[in-house]
Amino acid sequence: SFCGQCSSLSLSLSLSLSISLSPSQVLLVFAKEDGQSDAFWWACDRAGFRCNIARTPESAVECFLDKNHEIVVIDGRHSQYFEAEAVCRLVRATKPSEHTVLLAIVPQTSHPQTTHCTVHCVAHVSLSLSICRSGQRYVENISVSACYNELLQIEHGEVRCQFKLRACNSVFTALDHCQEAVEITSEDHVIQYVNPAFEHMMGYHKGELIGKELTELPKSDKNRADLLDTINTCIKKGKEWQGIYYARRKSGDSIQQHVKITPVIGQGGHSLRHRDRRKESVDARSISSRSSDAPSLQNRRYSSVARIHSMTIEAPITKVINIINAAQESSPVSVADALDRVLEILRTTELYSPQLASKEDDPHTNDLVGGLMSDGLRSLSGNEYVFSKNMSQLAIPVTLNDIPPAIAEMLDDEDQWDFNILELEAATCMRPLTYLGLKIFARFSVCEFLSCSEATLRCWLQVIEANYHASNSYHNSTHAADVLHATAYFLRKEKVKGSLDQLDEVAALIAATVHDVDHPGRTNSFLCNAGSELAILYNDTAVLESHHAALAFQLTVRDIKSNIFKNIDRTQFRTLRQAIIDMVLATEMTRHFEHVNKFANSINKPMAAIEDEGSDNEGPASIRNSPENRLLIKRMMIKCADVANPCRPLELCIEWAGRISEEYFSQTDEEKREALPVVMPVFDRNTCSIPKSQISFIDYFITDMFDAWDAFASLPGLMEHLSENYKYWKGLDDMKCKSLRPPSPP
Ligand code: AMP
Ligand code: ZN
Repeated sequence: SFCGQCSSLSLSLSLSLSISLSPSQVLLVFAKEDGQSDAFWWACDRAGFRCNIARTPESAVECFLDKNHEIVVIDGRHSQYFEAEAVCRLVRATKPSEHTVLLAIVPQTSHPQTTHCTVHCVAHVSLSLSICRSGQRYVENISVSACYNELLQIEHGEVRCQFKLRACNSVFTALDHCQEAVEITSEDHVIQYVNPAFEHMMGYHKGELIGKELTELPKSDKNRADLLDTINTCIKKGKEWQGIYYARRKSGDSIQQHVKITPVIGQGGHSLRHRDRRKESVDARSISSRSSDAPSLQNRRYSSVARIHSMTIEAPITKVINIINAAQESSPVSVADALDRVLEILRTTELYSPQLASKEDDPHTNDLVGGLMSDGLRSLSGNEYVFSKNMSQLAIPVTLNDIPPAIAEMLDDEDQWDFNILELEAATCMRPLTYLGLKIFARFSVCEFLSCSEATLRCWLQVIEANYHASNSYHNSTHAADVLHATAYFLRKEKVKGSLDQLDEVAALIAATVHDVDHPGRTNSFLCNAGSELAILYNDTAVLESHHAALAFQLTVRDIKSNIFKNIDRTQFRTLRQAIIDMVLATEMTRHFEHVNKFANSINKPMAAIEDEGSDNEGPASIRNSPENRLLIKRMMIKCADVANPCRPLELCIEWAGRISEEYFSQTDEEKREALPVVMPVFDRNTCSIPKSQISFIDYFITDMFDAWDAFASLPGLMEHLSENYKYWKGLDDMKCKSLRPPSPP
């Protein structure tokens, strides 16, 4: 079978095969039993043929229609019963007789010699046995051996030929219906046959192709000539050739195909080419993986390619692969080989995930990567969270003016990177988000933008903050306030400000505020392993981030008092909502490298190139301001804000490291307690080296990302802290210290 689509082909082939394997059937048309009919009867028996006898022309036709005998022997010696010609005519008038051999028995006297001729169609049947040219004649002879020889000769000659013709019919019918483009050429490249799929693909009618020489080969091209040499050598050896081939369609454009050329050695010793072509524009995988595929897989893949290539929509990656393929065609071998490697990489779906080097890699990195970047192994166990609503007694301000003076004074420093969020946490009794939110949103005129009152904003901040778990050591509202603070800080950076509009700013501030709301203090992997309700709701995919975004909107619109979006129009709301969701989802770590690399490739690199050129100052702005690139900038900004703690002043950095470690330890404790898979075994409170884990986190996730972000936003202060903090952790690790701080001197 050629492919899954060509089931007709495999069916027809097996049909003719099964016919040729089954014993021949012979119909004897004799009005009376005599020595001659007996002789044929026994001859059939000896040859292993099945035999029927009919006495009248009518019963002969009936029997023939039932059995479709390969050979019909008609008694033509006694015209008093029936005319042999009449029987011939009757049989020939039936459809299945097209491939049947008729044998007329003639009396000895009238035909001294036996001659053979083939019956091809009814038009050729002579109406008179005496002048029969196209039926076969057998001069009466009652020797069983003579009859046997006659039958065998017919069987080996005419009957076999008829079988082959029938098989050919089936094959061509199948090829005509096959969705793969098939072309058959003679040895000297003259086209003998093309199927409708081929006509369709190339845009030619078969009349324009058959009998013509293949003209698609620009022979001037050196690579082309090499390719042709390779193909010809291969074909001459009788081997099949497969590869990528370019052909020109009638419309003039050239298409790339995966071509299979199979030499067919004909009986006369010359070879026919059977080309099996398909457009290669979609499934590039078949380009290089073909040689290792099992035939059955190949067939399946080809059929899927055949199906896909009727699609009119091309994905960008397909266009890229096609461009590279086209470039390969006219490139020197070294470049073509390099491009092969490029294609190999492009074909993988995980384009943005670096491969972890080797097994002996640092276990801290492995655990962080496994714990943060995957959804983990799935296993089930009931698991619930206590959603803490640990409200303190501090009165919530009505307006910014009601904020206690000590807190207000603290908030004045909100625009400094060294702002101490932990002091605010303490001063606000664990409600830093509401206070900081009021201050920062006011500084960015968020209420004006949303046309909402400060009271609505305050109410909204309170609702959001109340849905952070104060019981989490890390993912509580102080972390949200910290991310909001970093976001606001980044938004004030000249390059960032120049790239984004006010809607982007508002979206970023809201996204930062809500980005971890209702975080259970467990990782996505944990939730999936535990079969938690959230994991089930979100199909183990970006579980937490989906929940944070969805819940944020639910909480916002639940009560008109807290609905900060109530006064903006639908279009603006949709745009804002989209931007917020995109940023919250961007905090998911499984796509960390995708976001960072896209940012570096689309923002850093082109900007550096233009800045190198000097003069043109318009260039960089136009790079930053495209909607696609603004999206990348916003994602990068919230990602950096989210994990900026290693870039904070040392004391804050140490505190955050302690908090995240404690949250991880607590998860490991629970995993052990509940017999769940331990997602990050290094985060075991009895054995963990916190300095090592921080070094790994910085090495793997932080350094490259902040290098890229710093190159864009210019953040020397942060980079200074990062390097100081890194040295601090290194120092502790060198001392074999596993805790947050060096042992205090005795
Ligand atoms: P999010 O859950 O949105 O805060 O995403 C940030 C991810 O980075 C979280 O999974 C944190 O657990 C992780 N993370 C942040 N800071 C650190 C740190 N200092 N050490 C290890 N992991 C961290
Ligand atoms: Zn976060």
